Amino acid sequence: MKLERLNLVENNALINGAWTQEASGRVFPVLNPADGTLLTEVADCGAVEAKAAVDAANKAFPLWSGKLHKERAQLLRRWFDLLMVHREDLARLISSEQGKCMAESRGEVDYGAAYVEWFAEEAKRDYGDVIPEPLKDRKVIVIRQPVGVVACITPWNFPIAMIARKIAPALAAGCTVVCKPAEDTPLSSLAIAKLAEEAGIPPGVINIVPASRQRAAEVVDVWLADGRVRKLTFTGSTPVGKHLARESANTLKRLSMELGGNAPFIVFDDADLDAAVEGALVAKFRNSGQTCVCANRLLVQDGVYDAFAAKLALAVAKLKVAPATDPDAEQGPLINEKAIAKVEDHVQDAVSKGAKVLLGGKRHALGGNFFEPTVLIDVTTEMKLCSEETFGPLAPLFRFKTEAEAVALANDTPFGLAAYFYSKDLGRVWRVAEELQVGMVGINEGRISTEVAPFGGIKESGYGREGSKYGMEDYQYIKYLCMGGLGDPTN
Ligand code: ADP
Repeated sequence: MKLERLNLVENNALINGAWTQEASGRVFPVLNPADGTLLTEVADCGAVEAKAAVDAANKAFPLWSGKLHKERAQLLRRWFDLLMVHREDLARLISSEQGKCMAESRGEVDYGAAYVEWFAEEAKRDYGDVIPEPLKDRKVIVIRQPVGVVACITPWNFPIAMIARKIAPALAAGCTVVCKPAEDTPLSSLAIAKLAEEAGIPPGVINIVPASRQRAAEVVDVWLADGRVRKLTFTGSTPVGKHLARESANTLKRLSMELGGNAPFIVFDDADLDAAVEGALVAKFRNSGQTCVCANRLLVQDGVYDAFAAKLALAVAKLKVAPATDPDAEQGPLINEKAIAKVEDHVQDAVSKGAKVLLGGKRHALGGNFFEPTVLIDVTTEMKLCSEETFGPLAPLFRFKTEAEAVALANDTPFGLAAYFYSKDLGRVWRVAEELQVGMVGINEGRISTEVAPFGGIKESGYGREGSKYGMEDYQYIKYLCMGGLGDPTN
């Protein structure tokens, strides 16, 4: 896809305000997942660049954290404005390297930029506290301070939103960052870093160090070992998150972990079925099912099971599967062959254990990384798709009889990111919302992500919150100041 501004495609790392090649000129390919063609090659950084990035971020920290909150707010605001000016080009970049359709890519630019706007505003409202003193001659004050250099490691499914959601609160709080974008999608993050530079965010405040999968650990290991990196924020798979958490212990870094999910989507007998189908389309099929809050298990009550299945299959059948170059595309390719193979494996495993294919079920006639949007019925808990995150366009329908059974099924997973349920019964709404072991609940709603709300999970889905009034705290220490000797000596 042709960009209006060709130089938004950047192939090098951003370190200390300079676009930098890997020391020996090493590069890795970035592919278009719709057809496997080469988009471009990007610097394949290693330990040398990783260290240089921390040096730069560490040097920039006193200057950046020393700015007035209002100055940081203005720079973030300017960055937001530039993201909006280049919305269409950024959407084209996302679609090219990640595959989602243009309507979704535009939505992602808006969503990612909204975090920058939000934290531009929050930067000015970074209030401390004055606590009523326990003794006459003193004051007890609490201030918030930036933790320091932050390492941000992001996945490929939302190449702009995931990194914006980390950089924006970090910068608002006064931190500087070193970032490693996912190897499948480095171009979008390099482009937004370029716009941050143009907005006037000083050199060294944002450093982006792309690397291939083979070198990802080499870059991140440098950051894990470096005591100057005071926080690590990660969005990605649970095994990698656990590894990073373990390795962060040596320098006791602060951590935010946004890891895998296994979201239940519950449809009760008393639900508005049309609304539930609409919600399921969003919660299950957005980004072709490649979202961490994606509905992984659809639990449907006995009385409406057949009706819901039929309505859902009808709606899913209408989704247009096509590359993002088709303006009517609604379902793009999956990110790579590994992703396709996983969905295929989940379908085959389920069918071998008694599930029936109501719709789809196989690789799409378009070939490559395209998979047919799929609906399976008669699904049971013995199937792999119950315990593993499919991360693809596969809607498996489980049947349940009672509310208690639904809640038990929903919670029967080590994960706890998002859950959704549809019911019109007010008592049930409160009961179920409180009983679900997750960080986020969509009640009669399939689309829950927004910059104004705290995004994050519990259990093995991680900890920390992104967005909202809570989002900046993850990047700050609170410091208690005890100001004594305030009594009147003449008294
Ligand atoms: P996914 O399966 O969605 O690719 P991952 O957790 O594997 O999720 O990847 C998320 C991010 O973590 C990517 O930027 C990836 O390069 C990075 N990553 C993967 N493995 C490691 C590792 N061992 N050390 C550091 N970063 C890693």
